[in-house]
Amino acid sequence: MPAWANGHGLHDSFRREPAGRPTVGGMLSIRSVSKSYGSLTALDDVSLDIAAGEFLGLLGPNGAGKSTLMSIIAGLKQPDAGTVDLNGTPATREGDAARHHLGLVPQNIALYDELSAEENLQVFGELFDLDHATLRSRIAESLDAVGLSDRRRDRVKGFSGGMKRRLNIVAALLHRPKLLLCDEPTVGVDPQSRNAIFEFLEQLNREGLTVVYSTHYMEEATRLCSRIAIIDHGKILAEGSLAQLLAQLPTAEQLSLPDNPSVAAALTSLRDLGSVTSTELGHTLAIAPNTTLSSVFRTLEKHGVPSTDCTLTRPGLEDVFLHLTGKAFRE
Ligand code: ADP
Repeated sequence: MPAWANGHGLHDSFRREPAGRPTVGGMLSIRSVSKSYGSLTALDDVSLDIAAGEFLGLLGPNGAGKSTLMSIIAGLKQPDAGTVDLNGTPATREGDAARHHLGLVPQNIALYDELSAEENLQVFGELFDLDHATLRSRIAESLDAVGLSDRRRDRVKGFSGGMKRRLNIVAALLHRPKLLLCDEPTVGVDPQSRNAIFEFLEQLNREGLTVVYSTHYMEEATRLCSRIAIIDHGKILAEGSLAQLLAQLPTAEQLSLPDNPSVAAALTSLRDLGSVTSTELGHTLAIAPNTTLSSVFRTLEKHGVPSTDCTLTRPGLEDVFLHLTGKAFRE
């Protein structure tokens, strides 16, 4: 965990609601939402339910419709058809109170370059009518939580992409929303800050904040999200936990064997044991569903094929995308 995401200050404000107060209808309910820009259909009958406390990933290639959906949830765009309910209240009407329950981290960093970090948060906080004393203490907590206290009086102009992003995230949290929408928040962020942002968001989620996170990076969805909705050409193609999505694939793991004289006997033995479902050219095996890798390795070792000479390929979200669309994921 980075020094600035150390589990104090900001996170205490996101404690879960006391037990016994059920969330009726979930945190967010998206029903049959469609949106076109002229003749281009950006969203086509999208429905999704998000429960309180989830970390939902909206994963799709560029142009899939992620930003359009985020903007509609945030009330910045109106759908042509369909509804969005936030905490049981319609969120698609301009100026609706439901939007006070959410914070948006937009894809393009929205900060005033000429203002300091502190002044930027002041401007954002005033949008939510926070009283002076509350805003002052939240600004101090926020800057502390993302390691920017020392830079609070510096103009944002001189900040790195990662620092700006951190500031943009806490700006979206000043009014203590229950739901945070992050629209591709790591674009233009260096790997170290990216990791620190992940840890910060994970910590907030553990404290009870519901997060919807859009990305075109499969490794981000894999690492962060308790549930992933795969979107392409404005349609949700599949949704579920990573394990549920991977379970849709016909094969689990593949093992490439070395070119070694002992391999033929090992293959025969594995086939006889039913440990592999296919053998292709180049000695690539698909591990049978009920077979443990350790048992495969034991058989290989017994026949003199060292496991260190084998290459294991585990399927990932790119394989799920290929399986669903017949196309490789375009980043
Ligand atoms: P993503 O966030 O997944 O990259 P977007 O929601 O930004 O996708 O875009 C979905 C589709 O809608 C794309 O084809 C994009 O070019 C188009 N689009 C987005 N915004 C507009 C707009 N304001 N006018 C016309 N087309 C748009």
